[in-house]
Amino acid sequence: MSVADLRVAADELEGQSPEQILAWTSERYPRVSFATGFGAEGCVLIDMAARHALPIDLFTLDTGLLFPETYALWRRLEQRYAVTIRAVRPAQTVEEQATGHGDQLWARDPDRCCALRKVAPLAEALAGSDAWITAIRRDQTPTRAAARHVEWDAKNGLVKVNPLLRWSSDDVWGYVKHHDVPCNALHDAGYGSIGCAPCTTPVAPGEDPRAGRWRAIGKNECGLHVRLQPVRRAEL
Ligand code: SF4
Repeated sequence: MSVADLRVAADELEGQSPEQILAWTSERYPRVSFATGFGAEGCVLIDMAARHALPIDLFTLDTGLLFPETYALWRRLEQRYAVTIRAVRPAQTVEEQATGHGDQLWARDPDRCCALRKVAPLAEALAGSDAWITAIRRDQTPTRAAARHVEWDAKNGLVKVNPLLRWSSDDVWGYVKHHDVPCNALHDAGYGSIGCAPCTTPVAPGEDPRAGRWRAIGKNECGLHVRLQPVRRAEL
């Protein structure tokens, strides 16, 4: 589909359910990937894909810095749905990165750290795919507010599909409860949005769920959903 065709399709999909958007994607593209970060939204999409037996390649960006609870959820999801969620890892281990860029790069230059440990590995993982699915919602951040259900991802060179854009947090948690979807145990400890352990803190009641990500440094995206050029391995 051309970019113009994708705009037309996005208009048509605006009133469709997430399940219909997932089915639409699987019918049109032979190689579809879903990069999950194991948020509640991602767990919902894994449940939907499994429920409808959609042939979607599941993977996660294993930065090596995830919470133990996140690694435990990863295994629970694989067992519950009888799927494999592939690990996509950075070119460098945490220790190698510390040698090359200094210890705790996330505390000094989190954009660079995310570029190395998330954005570059994602670009490589998507190289063989026709389309990739994300779990973003429009009401999460200003940069996500203008997203369409289907759009051309010029940075990674493939179609990007966002089935949950129009859902609210209540919609997500209603689905989780109704279908008993496994979720991260840290949500019960006050964590709204969960990423790497060094960059994630709990949130207070009523606080923006993403306020615990990169708290106090004004960063609210890791770079996966903004139009930046990825760092390539040759630049490491
Ligand atoms: S979230 Fe933090 S630790 Fe994880 S890649 Fe980004 S800066 Fe590094």
